[in-house]
Amino acid sequence: MWIDTHCHLEAPEFAGEEDALAQQAAALGVSQIVIPAIDRDSFARVAALAQRQPNCSYALGIHPMYVPQAADADLDILRQALTAAQSDPKLVAIGEIGMDFFIPEYTESPLRERQEHFFVEQLKLAREFNLPVLLHIRRAQDVILKHLRRIRPPGGIAHAFNGSFQQAQAFIELGFKLSFCGTFTHERAQQLRRLATELPLESLVIETDAPDLAPSWAVSRRNSPLELPRIGEALATLRGVEPELLAQATTANALAVLPRLAALTGP
Ligand SMILES: [Zn+2]
Repeated sequence: MWIDTHCHLEAPEFAGEEDALAQQAAALGVSQIVIPAIDRDSFARVAALAQRQPNCSYALGIHPMYVPQAADADLDILRQALTAAQSDPKLVAIGEIGMDFFIPEYTESPLRERQEHFFVEQLKLAREFNLPVLLHIRRAQDVILKHLRRIRPPGGIAHAFNGSFQQAQAFIELGFKLSFCGTFTHERAQQLRRLATELPLESLVIETDAPDLAPSWAVSRRNSPLELPRIGEALATLRGVEPELLAQATTANALAVLPRLAALTGP
């Protein structure tokens, strides 16, 4: 049994196939797929898809790459959506939120400040609603850690983790799990392969980030939640453990950091 802790199954790339893919993934042992929102318009879509499929749950948030198009009022709309969904067991986190300094114009004023503002306000919502966060981090590990230390949301997942060992340790100390997707399966991803091999097993979760970040064997086809078991098996091979052990550990880790997902899947 595997948990895909980050999959954009509501993305246009999957239009019309979302439900079939969720069911096919279930048949492959993917017991849960967490679908993060990206902007205001996606809130209803991720929630509706999660309601339809027993193995889907969702998060609400505004993705840093969608901050430039977002209005200030979107933060109020997010608060209203969180209030309305508070007793919805399928809502498991706030996400996808974070900061992205990979794109050069995002590192400059005023976009940099705007990303930071949206991130900080959403961390405050996470604390207020007592929900873990799904973090998007590109070249922004330290500024994100600074705000986590200050605001202290109730843990979460650093999605597609690609920092240093020292940064990994800092996230772990703040109650976070580190998530690995198919990126480490590419031979040239040496640092990522070291992280995936050497970080403590109790800190790891896995994801597809579909339709993005395809594993090495799927670069010519669309990434999907169906790739998750093979990503898990590849990680087990790197670490020299049985896939079954890795599946159990990463599932337990995901449920520990997403308590509402644990409530959803039962004992
Ligand atoms: Zn994402």
